[in-house]
Amino acid sequence: MGKDIILYVVVPCYNEEEVLEITTKALNEKMQQLIKSNAISNESKVLYVNDGSKDNTWNLITEIHNQNNLFCGIKLSRNRGSQNALYAGLMVAKEYADITISIEADLQDDINVIDKMLEEYKNGAEIVYGVRSSRKQDTFFKRVTAGFFYKFMNFIGIEMIQNHSECRLMSKKALEGLEQFEETNLFLRGIIPQIGYKSAVAYYDRGKRMGGKTKFSLKKMINFAMEGIISFSIAPLRLISASGFLMAFISFIILICLLIMNVVNHAVSDLGFIITTIFLATGLQMLSLGIIGEYIGKINYEVKKRPRYIIEEKLL
Ligand code: UDP
Ligand code: MG
Repeated sequence: MGKDIILYVVVPCYNEEEVLEITTKALNEKMQQLIKSNAISNESKVLYVNDGSKDNTWNLITEIHNQNNLFCGIKLSRNRGSQNALYAGLMVAKEYADITISIEADLQDDINVIDKMLEEYKNGAEIVYGVRSSRKQDTFFKRVTAGFFYKFMNFIGIEMIQNHSECRLMSKKALEGLEQFEETNLFLRGIIPQIGYKSAVAYYDRGKRMGGKTKFSLKKMINFAMEGIISFSIAPLRLISASGFLMAFISFIILICLLIMNVVNHAVSDLGFIITTIFLATGLQMLSLGIIGEYIGKINYEVKKRPRYIIEEKLL
């Protein structure tokens, strides 16, 4: 049965000239082996998505495509971030493939996970989440921030698969499901569990980058975390109303206490207390406005219905 499964491996690439050759070699071996053992069809491909790289990445992709038609590529008109790049690749692949597997260009995800994923797909899963078995290879900073991120997301009720990066298998059916989500602000790790269908998990070891540096600056990481929270939860808004209620309740009690004290022994007013209270209240109001602003900002983007990406060139 495997012989008929057309697999497209989708790889977003942003300034990856240092690793692209190693990646291509490894993926080529893996794909040939899978095709030979009839695990996948010989029409299967690797699809590189050039996410507006500023280096030689697109030229390399073109060269690789010309040498070996197992590899194809699309070029986005500019850098749109890994989520949009991956989405673009998945939507293009959907037209040709029965299943897609997404992995990072730096091969941090052990590509042998592909075998396990295919196994799960054959057992009936429409989505297979790649989950890293440990975070040993990550920097201390990344480990701590990521751990905190998952805990927080869980706490405010956002369904996410722990330690799952963007490495996953999706069937055509699941991709068609994904296509129906129309939001512009993409947070795939949150959206994909919402698609539903039977899913499974495949464990793998996550290694070091094969070359080059991480393409995720702290700014991109913070944006990404914000995206996840704001796009999937109104918990921050609830927090505002809850703290507002608490503040009002406490001040009401204090007011009554002050009134009683005033009646009983003519208590004096405390200037410091008043100033602190004003600062506290102002701070809270500013914080609240800031959070509301975040949501309005998102709405502003969503109503524009801008395209998530524009494809400049296709090598298929
Ligand atoms: N990436 C991308 N656009 C971006 C940033 C990253 O397409 O704006 C790609 C990158 O080429 C890689 C994947 O997303 O294939 C993950 O990036 P990276 O390995 O730098 O992230 P990390 O593993 O450090 O989280
Ligand atoms: Mg990486």
